[in-house]
Amino acid sequence: MNENRIQHYPVVIVGGGQAGLSTSYHLRQQGIDHLVFEKHKAMHAWQTQRWDNFCLVTPNWQCALPGHPYQGDDPDGFMVKHEILDYLKGFRAKVDPPIREGVSVRRVTPRSEGGFLVSTTSGEVSADNVVVASGGYHEPIVPRMAERLPGHIAQIHSAEYRNADQLPDGPVLVVGSGQSGAQIAEDLHLAGRKVVLAVGHAPRCARFYRGRDVVTWLADMGYYEMSVDQHPLREGVRDNTNHYVTGRDGGRDIDLRKFASEGMELYGVLRDYDGASLVFDTNLASALDDADKTYNSINAAIDKYIAENGIEAPPPSVYEPVWTPAAERPTLDLAASGIASIVWCIGFKPDFRWLDAPVFNGAGHPQHRRGVTAQEGVYFIGLPWLHTWGSGRFGAVGRDAEHIVADIAARSLKESAA
Ligand SMILES: Cc1cc2nc3c(=O)[nH]c(=O)nc-3n(C[C@H](O)[C@H](O)[C@H](O)COP(=O)(O)OP(=O)(O)OC[C@H]3O[C@@H](n4cnc5c(N)ncnc54)[C@H](O)[C@@H]3O)c2cc1C
Repeated sequence: MNENRIQHYPVVIVGGGQAGLSTSYHLRQQGIDHLVFEKHKAMHAWQTQRWDNFCLVTPNWQCALPGHPYQGDDPDGFMVKHEILDYLKGFRAKVDPPIREGVSVRRVTPRSEGGFLVSTTSGEVSADNVVVASGGYHEPIVPRMAERLPGHIAQIHSAEYRNADQLPDGPVLVVGSGQSGAQIAEDLHLAGRKVVLAVGHAPRCARFYRGRDVVTWLADMGYYEMSVDQHPLREGVRDNTNHYVTGRDGGRDIDLRKFASEGMELYGVLRDYDGASLVFDTNLASALDDADKTYNSINAAIDKYIAENGIEAPPPSVYEPVWTPAAERPTLDLAASGIASIVWCIGFKPDFRWLDAPVFNGAGHPQHRRGVTAQEGVYFIGLPWLHTWGSGRFGAVGRDAEHIVADIAARSLKESAA
């Protein structure tokens, strides 16, 4: 194709999820022409990768997409799937983004004359700036050991899980106890299925403590304003696993010990399959203890805040285990267990191979400061802890988008003045 005749845009956004559309919103506010490419449909992940009983973990008041704050009558509630989709539909209608759906960006390459060549499944365009809003959850992780498991066992990834009825009769092995794994294990448990859960290292937190949602306390304590530079772990916080807790039925704790006392089988981290048995780390007791330690330490921080500020609140409490494993179980005979299906809940790998720019660190992760990279014109948006806790969520993606759009506007002003 003759590059001189291809369409040029000041900004191309890759991805039409909440991050891409938040960026489009702010570009429109600044009157900056742009185009969004979306591989599937806008808000694809919310429509296709969440289970039927999915609901937000974050309270409704944290649904603060730009120009589209939550306006319902239950700010402390938790939207269920169809409410989330309605909320996002309303957001899309408000933004009215210039979007090409069903078009995948295959390659972004810097041009010698400046700017970028953007190659897509539907031709090429050029752009002064590229905003990477393609999310952080690209390739579902399933370990290679899965291929060695007996063929009669149905295996899916959490992204494909919809409900208990989708799985064949018989016990289900859920691997991973992060937000997805813990909630899917609960979903199956409540549906009356026998669940075997391989527990990982995810921390947990209380849903409510001393009369309020823990998220509301943390907001008052300034936690959601803390930037990655101010966090004790610095950029290491980006590797943290989310705390498990749920918004289901108005919100409650997820206590794996309680599930165990009701018949769920808990094991440590799944390590291998030796041809007859599943092999687990003997870390179950410490994993449960560590999750409770985090739970209690968050509550203790809330106690301190209450005391220091003389706030009247119901009395403090400390979580005491309702169940402890009698012994670690390093193996489980797969045939004897009757396990008929496995749900892999061990996360996703990002895939930015299409981006031909030196904007990745030694570990292959995007290197940026609040989404602004060292390569002029390349931006990231929507990644967990891009700037604050809420950067990868409805709560704060909008203000990050405003920040990178301000950078784009300032640079283009400077260039037009030069
Ligand atoms: C299980 C789970 C629970 C969550 N719970 C909450 C919660 O309670 N509260 C909350 O606020 N957030 C929650 N989140 C987090 C967050 O809101 C979502 O992950 C959100 O979807 C991220 O938005 P995004 O726009 O950055 O990415 P995505 O929604 O992943 O959007 C990226 C888009 O880019 C497209 N794309 C990718 N590559 C290309 C390409 N090469 N060319 C063109 N298009 C491309 C994809 O098709 C996709 O539509 C949850 C996430 C998960 C997975």
